[in-house]
Amino acid sequence: MKADNIHKIVRILASQTPKWDVPIVTLVAETSNDPFKVLISTVLSLRTKDETTSEASKRLFKLADNPSDMLGLTEKEIIKAIYPVGFYKTKAKNIRSICHDLLSKYGSKVPDEIDELLKLKGVGRKTANLVVTLGYNKPGICVDTHVHRISNRLGYIKTKTPDETETVLRKKLPEKYWVDYNSLLVSFGQHLCRPISPFCSRCPIEKYCDRVGVIKSR
Ligand code: SF4
Repeated sequence: MKADNIHKIVRILASQTPKWDVPIVTLVAETSNDPFKVLISTVLSLRTKDETTSEASKRLFKLADNPSDMLGLTEKEIIKAIYPVGFYKTKAKNIRSICHDLLSKYGSKVPDEIDELLKLKGVGRKTANLVVTLGYNKPGICVDTHVHRISNRLGYIKTKTPDETETVLRKKLPEKYWVDYNSLLVSFGQHLCRPISPFCSRCPIEKYCDRVGVIKSR
């Protein structure tokens, strides 16, 4: 695709997303504007359906919504609140470890730098980028499986891994789109540009898409 078409693509997707469910962490950021909640709900969301993450986050934040209260909960209590999110035992352990580090090393404040966030247990680039963009409204591009897949399908970039996608997008994607790019593509990827057999016949950006690697579509 012509690189310039990214402006039209972003504009069209932004006009369509109100029709679709908002990804869970965007929802948390919009409703709470609290980096701690963005961090914890993103940790909970990994390998977990949005509805499950949403309910688990609500139950957990009712018990504790800051690092010190969270550390006051036992691992068992956290597990009970977050079950059945994926890897709930590991996540409960990680949440306690994160809160311990936030209190002992960061004065109870969630860091706003990717490199510092990556030092926290269980926090990878995706989570770190989401905290920076959604929790602090700072530039960052959160690349998950949807962003990686769709950017390549469009023919906007040609990369092999999400980390490589992040590096290339940082050079290519206009910075004004960085913060929203993830939310737009996650919604779009969940509803139309699905991993297997995307709904190309209903796609609002079909005329701009090279459909790289798309073998089967609906
Ligand atoms: S045309 Fe198909 S592959 Fe391209 S963005 Fe739309 S749904 Fe995805």
